[in-house]
Amino acid sequence: MNWFRRNAASQQSSQPSQVAQNIAPTPAPSEPTIRSQSGNAVPVISSTMMDYPLTVQFIFQRAKTLFPKRELVTVTADGYERSTFGEVCANAEKIAAALNIMGVKKGDRIATLAWNTTRHLELYMAIPTMGAVLHTLNLRLASDQLGFIIQDAADKIIFADADLLPLLEKCRPYMGSVERIVVMNGSAASQPADFPPILQYEDVIANAPTSFTWPELDEREAAAMCYTSGTTANPKGVVYSHRSVYLHASSLIMTDTIGLSGSDIAMPIVPMFHVNAWGLPHAAAMVGSKVVFPGKYMDPARIARAMADERVTLSAGVPTIWLGLVQFLEKNPTVDLSSIRYLVCGGSAAPSALIAALDKYNLKLLHAWGMTETSPIGSISRLKAGMESLSYTEQLAIRAKQGFPVPGVEIRIMNMETGKEAPWDGVSFGEIQIRGPWITGSYFHSENLEQGESKFIDGWFRTGDVATMDPDGYIQIVDRTKDVIKSGGEWISSVQLESIIMAHPRVAEAAVVGMPHPKWQERPVAAVVMKPDQPPMTLEELRTFLEPQVAKWWLPDAIVITSAIPKTSVGKFDKKILRSQLQDQVHLAD
Ligand code: AMP
Repeated sequence: MNWFRRNAASQQSSQPSQVAQNIAPTPAPSEPTIRSQSGNAVPVISSTMMDYPLTVQFIFQRAKTLFPKRELVTVTADGYERSTFGEVCANAEKIAAALNIMGVKKGDRIATLAWNTTRHLELYMAIPTMGAVLHTLNLRLASDQLGFIIQDAADKIIFADADLLPLLEKCRPYMGSVERIVVMNGSAASQPADFPPILQYEDVIANAPTSFTWPELDEREAAAMCYTSGTTANPKGVVYSHRSVYLHASSLIMTDTIGLSGSDIAMPIVPMFHVNAWGLPHAAAMVGSKVVFPGKYMDPARIARAMADERVTLSAGVPTIWLGLVQFLEKNPTVDLSSIRYLVCGGSAAPSALIAALDKYNLKLLHAWGMTETSPIGSISRLKAGMESLSYTEQLAIRAKQGFPVPGVEIRIMNMETGKEAPWDGVSFGEIQIRGPWITGSYFHSENLEQGESKFIDGWFRTGDVATMDPDGYIQIVDRTKDVIKSGGEWISSVQLESIIMAHPRVAEAAVVGMPHPKWQERPVAAVVMKPDQPPMTLEELRTFLEPQVAKWWLPDAIVITSAIPKTSVGKFDKKILRSQLQDQVHLAD
């Protein structure tokens, strides 16, 4: 009897028979469930797809087998050092084998204190692929902060560039967990007393077995970690899983994000110690892009020369790097950068004047937003179809926004007072909240962190960035919650003021902070760096320049001309230090 006839027969009598009543009901086969966004278990039909783990091993294997001949270059003091993905993967395998012999186990934190080099890429491949956790240390931190991070992560081995050993030596009191130091790109002058034994990278490779049996990894295991640059509190550890690294790297090769391709020649100027160089090394290994590593050379002349020599097609860095490049090109307009498709810019807001200045050299800036906790790419500002017909000025205004979420993540703007989602009107602002598979769900050692307002709410991460969302879904950062200026109960965006001031032809850089005011609570004060040989700007000049572009009550109450704006370890304006510097110089009165 087929299923239909059997059921039809059983439904003929509405009263269950005596026999049927005595038979225990057959339990319904248990159906698989998934968790809905509200947390309920929802039954689903089983998928027939393989549960294939998304790991860095897969990225490594592709680079090793599919792109062994693809070139990798590191800028050195006297030229370029050349290697290939084949050589890097062979070395990575030896490093993994050596770490295994040294007793490194799954989950152990293995740190790097290093510039952007092919050696560093070898460690990007070796450490997660063998099941350990690549912990990139920020070489621009003060030794006590660096020490705190080494201690908090309980790093077991540190791979350090030779010229950074003096910094590491200062961290000695915090290095109880560290069993060995491996020196790269040079050698140690001596073995300091009370310091973990120092090995030479080249010796480790020379003495290591040439092959290693990679362990089986679960995609949810930790692959890498990075600490936030925390200017107000101790840095917090973010631990990336294999899955999050893989998915984030996959997002970078999508055409509508950064669109990194195998035919690209990528130059990550963003440091490899800062959020995995925005995922570029992983994405490059996935598709076989040539990579040019700048080493420790961040000056515009060296960067421009390497870009021209190697015919770089895509690069990534913070706005200060691109401001420096524009200033260099103004004096050296014949340098040939025609190979460049995109300069990805993130970490701080890209002023529209910077985007326009680069356009003049036919260099397209692609504005991205993200943070350590978001792996980092969260949004990218690309023009949508149809927007090409807008005027150049209108397009520029869109490109200066931080863009709309990349596929895979969701963003919402929450009004900070009502707790409700802000309308998509490009005016109302609130905190950016974000969720997705490469957004952190907690912090490392969260139990030790100071109690404050939680960074997590209903499955969303609270970024602490304040932004508007326009009707097309583009976000525009207004400020960090702690930097937004509150004047007489109204909000003023320091980021927007900075962007406009930096468009002044005599201004090189500008930062705006709120300073205490007896009547208005806070008023904006601008710190301005003039371009070389330009006379200082007066407050009156500044206000006259700003007046047609902002509300009257946004006009700064004071201007301070300075030679440099203090920066954080990752090149952003350090407004905490700036505020304390200005405290002695600026006293606002009614
Ligand atoms: P970090 O975790 O050190 O990478 O810093 C992340 C923070 O940098 C974000 O929360 C923002 O405040 C800022 N940021 C990153 N990208 C941008 C951008 N495109 N525009 C404005 N601010 C940005």
